[in-house]
Amino acid sequence: MDFGLTDDQRALQEAARRYAREKLLPYYQTREGEGRFNRDMVREMGELGLIAPDLPEKFGGLGVPGVTAGLITEEIAYGDHSVSYIQLLTMLCGGVVAEFAAEDVANEYLPKFIKGEKLIGLGLTEPRGGTDAAHLKLRAKHDGESFVLNGEKSSISAAAQADFLVVAARTGTDEEGARGVTAFLVDMSLPGVSRAAYNDLGSKAVGRGSVWFEDVRVPAHMMIGGEGKGFTQVMRGFDYSRALIGHMCLGPAQASMEETWPYTLEREAFGRPIAEFQGVTFPLAEYDTQVQAARLLCLQTLWLRDQGLPHTREAAMCKWWLPKLCTDAIQQCLLTHGHLGYSQDLPHQQRLRDVMGLQIGDGTAQVSKMVIARETVGRAAVQYARK
Ligand SMILES: Cc1cc2nc3c(=O)[nH]c(=O)nc-3n(C[C@H](O)[C@H](O)[C@H](O)COP(=O)(O)OP(=O)(O)OC[C@H]3O[C@@H](n4cnc5c(N)ncnc54)[C@H](O)[C@@H]3O)c2cc1C
Repeated sequence: MDFGLTDDQRALQEAARRYAREKLLPYYQTREGEGRFNRDMVREMGELGLIAPDLPEKFGGLGVPGVTAGLITEEIAYGDHSVSYIQLLTMLCGGVVAEFAAEDVANEYLPKFIKGEKLIGLGLTEPRGGTDAAHLKLRAKHDGESFVLNGEKSSISAAAQADFLVVAARTGTDEEGARGVTAFLVDMSLPGVSRAAYNDLGSKAVGRGSVWFEDVRVPAHMMIGGEGKGFTQVMRGFDYSRALIGHMCLGPAQASMEETWPYTLEREAFGRPIAEFQGVTFPLAEYDTQVQAARLLCLQTLWLRDQGLPHTREAAMCKWWLPKLCTDAIQQCLLTHGHLGYSQDLPHQQRLRDVMGLQIGDGTAQVSKMVIARETVGRAAVQYARK
């Protein structure tokens, strides 16, 4: 077992760290007010190879292992959790495109996503619910050289600003469930697409929202993989994204911890630094311990993936634990700052609101625990789930 990083990993981590601390962190709070990403910033990240470093070199990526991608994601999230959504969405959706799309489609679009020229998102959830995603309704009807899309996607990260979405649509019958779902790479500038952003609690720069498709004609060659294969293709990507989400949550938690420990030396009560009160330091010490343990779980999950070994169970553990733990750790940092922590002048409240969203996004804790149970004792653990 080797916990050391290679020179390449260290160099990339350092580049991401420098970018996050110099370019992202100082504007974390102002960026929230803008409600969308500055495209110059996105292109700059792309030029530095920070958006989707794991994607193959033939598409403009760096072809680094998942472990390296996780480390870089955490660094960016340290500076701005919302900005790390760009990485998550590009690595998740870009990975699906790289593996399953037609070669000419992958060659044409992936370099644009990796370089930050275009933003990609995932359209899976629908108004009737995201947990039971296999029974989605948005329909894609084959018509000559196209598929015609009708329906609505809801709760889509970057809905209001993405240039492309990987859309999961029903090409088969409702009864076919997951087997009737096909994925498409859809250009958001096509006629018949409309969208609107929500007024969210956090991650406001991401612009989560709804997308409506009204007779949207998608060229057939934009289908990703085979007909009826879309759901399983996207779900396979989730084992990866769940560990990356862990790193997205670790970044802000780490930032708040690093700001809070020194504060316990500066702030005095009863004529002494509050660091002298174990009631102050013990909760921080406990969260610091758990955050480090959780980081190791994420890295182990990514390492298993890099080795081609099963990691569904570990990924589900990351998904339920990290967003919850990091939300709690940030809240403790906020409380340690007393009344100042409750003010919007300090970033802890924003980090709390941002990270909390990922207790729901990409699946709730209940779903993750169902996956862990299913992976451990088999389908008896989810016997009530619809076929
Ligand atoms: C910040 C954020 C970002 C997101 N980004 C995207 C995105 O980019 N693309 C996308 O497609 N979607 C996205 N989503 C949607 C997200 O994936 C869904 O919200 C999630 O899957 C849950 O679906 P739901 O909200 O419809 O809840 P529902 O499915 O309606 O569930 C409601 C509640 O019931 C619980 N529940 C449901 N079934 C069971 C069960 N069998 N056992 C126990 N409990 C159960 C759930 O855990 C939940 O607490 C995002 C959501 C958020 C908050």
